[in-house]
Amino acid sequence: MPSKNHTHEQHFLLSAKARSLSIPQIAEWDEETVFKTFRELRWPKTGGEPYCPICGSVDHYFIKGRRQWRCKDCGRTYSVTSGTWLHSSNLPLKTILIAMVLLANAVKGVSASQLMRHLDVQYKTAYTLYHKLRSALLGTRYDQPAMKGEIQTDGAYLNPYKRPANRAMDRPDGDRESSMPESCILVIRQAGEKGKGATRTLTYVIDKENAKDIQYHVEDNVQPGSTIVSDEHSAYGNLQVNFERVVVNHKICYCGPEGENTNQAESFFARFRRMFKGQIHRASREYLELYANEVAYREDTRRWDNGRIAFDMLGRMLTLADDSPFRGYWSRSRRNPAVASLESPPSFPLAA
Ligand SMILES: [Zn+2]
Repeated sequence: MPSKNHTHEQHFLLSAKARSLSIPQIAEWDEETVFKTFRELRWPKTGGEPYCPICGSVDHYFIKGRRQWRCKDCGRTYSVTSGTWLHSSNLPLKTILIAMVLLANAVKGVSASQLMRHLDVQYKTAYTLYHKLRSALLGTRYDQPAMKGEIQTDGAYLNPYKRPANRAMDRPDGDRESSMPESCILVIRQAGEKGKGATRTLTYVIDKENAKDIQYHVEDNVQPGSTIVSDEHSAYGNLQVNFERVVVNHKICYCGPEGENTNQAESFFARFRRMFKGQIHRASREYLELYANEVAYREDTRRWDNGRIAFDMLGRMLTLADDSPFRGYWSRSRRNPAVASLESPPSFPLAA
């Protein structure tokens, strides 16, 4: 049998393909090019032609000096960032675009203080921008169909850095309940072709590795009949009702050296731990949700070139924010069938 030729294969991030957009390149863009890029990412359906975030009308006056539009139908004034995650940002559009490239290139994330120095902005500004990006990544994560095929799932306690022994018989009496930290991160990953790693990743912060939450999140996101691979923890037992269940007996210790597992779920946690230790240190439960999802996004886009990632991130920030007053109008949430049926605003005109 031929041996794996990993050593001959160049790492993707070192290849020319991984670099499609650079900061010197963007620095040379004029204001009009930057503005056009934002318009195209904000309104992809119309190729960058703006339409009103309130009523959907395409009839407007352009207020050139302010780079804003006034709707001819409802009279509302809007900009390229109105109602989006970038709505209240005072940063120049070019600075935001440069920030996206920096964040796309930082495969393990960056700290807000690094971003602050790169962009020459206040700490709060850098922190807020990064936080909004994380929120936008979380808010847009259901933009794909339900998972199917081979799905790997596992839970880990990352705050503090400890996981109880996997098998009940390995744990000291009473250890199971008393010494467990509060929040467990549940990861659900869709496996891709053999040897190519996972193609899609969802994460949830749950109370301990418990059967009820695990069943809820897996059933909510995975097509019935798919194969679920998990360890022998009893919390995954309910999954055999609607899925083909494969139990893996892990020979490797969960608390072993970083990144040494071949298992997809484990490799997610390895990356999370590296980022967590390097950039974040500690986090509240709400933030843990955002960080875990950021790692999931970075894992899922690991073979994209940096330009694609930067534009994808910016595009997600230019969708309507969760707290936007226009949100209910045309967001597509799988959890809300009433909203899910509205793919576009009611008065959005069809192409003539
Ligand atoms: Zn309008």
